[in-house]
Amino acid sequence: MSKTVTFPQAITLPAIGQGSWYMGEDPSLRKKEIAALQAGLECGLKLIDTAEMYADGGAEQVVGEALSGRRDSAWLVSKVYPWHAGEVDAIEACERSLSRLKTDYLDLYLLHWRGSVPLEETIRAMETLQQQGKIRQWGVSNFDIDDMHELWQEAGGNACATNQVLYHLASRGIEYALLPECQQRQIPLMAYCPLAQAGRLRRDLLHNGALNQLAQQKGISIAQLLLAWVIRKEGVIAIPKASSVAHVQENAAALNVSFSSEELATINQQFPPPTGKLPLDVV
Ligand code: NDP
Repeated sequence: MSKTVTFPQAITLPAIGQGSWYMGEDPSLRKKEIAALQAGLECGLKLIDTAEMYADGGAEQVVGEALSGRRDSAWLVSKVYPWHAGEVDAIEACERSLSRLKTDYLDLYLLHWRGSVPLEETIRAMETLQQQGKIRQWGVSNFDIDDMHELWQEAGGNACATNQVLYHLASRGIEYALLPECQQRQIPLMAYCPLAQAGRLRRDLLHNGALNQLAQQKGISIAQLLLAWVIRKEGVIAIPKASSVAHVQENAAALNVSFSSEELATINQQFPPPTGKLPLDVV
């Protein structure tokens, strides 16, 4: 069965979306990137993740072009730099993102990582953006469990809709505390680098004998195995970046891959779950 994830406000989405880091950097790839994003939407990969940071706004422009005439078919996420996350600056940063994305609202707006602006100020800015109809929901990214506890203690902090964090087979630290607590609070996690692009161990993953054998037995690619593994748990959505239609279609098919407990045990032998609290991995 095709896996889904439910965000607050009863928004249910396919558990794989699309990333956009590095899009918009090379004009010669622009058409290909747009075609990949549109193919992803057609395969049901509804969530598109971008940020003012990516290609200095260029990725948002690519996404905006991909969404021309089909804005409502996507669930659009962008992110604000921590140094733009103050009460006034965040409004202006969001307006610039909206203009590059050629839309008048974001479905979700995230604080990209924690900076020196007090959380309280960022929450007020997010609430203002919601009241103005510029964003539907807000969340955070790269917050470890202690940051989440601080956030939840702030007035309005419980409205945080998600935390976008690094999660892939070779980086399982969030399974110890962050993931279980977010699951318990029904806050979905967005897994970035699900294919371990920025992770040190990508080569090890791709060339791991046991993983390759398992993928072969299941008739899937290693990329599909990695994605299906990331979304095997409740409340996790993976946002792989793919800039070809073939990759996007391959990734979408991973929504229907599941694992037996024996298969999961084999994977655990190669890449064991954490046995204690580890610092949150970031890119
Ligand atoms: P990913 O783990 O998604 O890896 C992307 C790489 O995998 C690309 O080189 C892509 O190649 C390749 N790829 C995609 N699909 C396949 C496939 N089926 N088979 C083989 N290779 C494939 O890394 P990202 O760093 O891009 O992370 C995903 C997204 O998460 C980002 O794009 C961004 O939106 C978000 N992110 C958020 C961060 C944060 O701090 N909040 C930090 C980092 C990422 P190709 O392009 O050629 O298809």
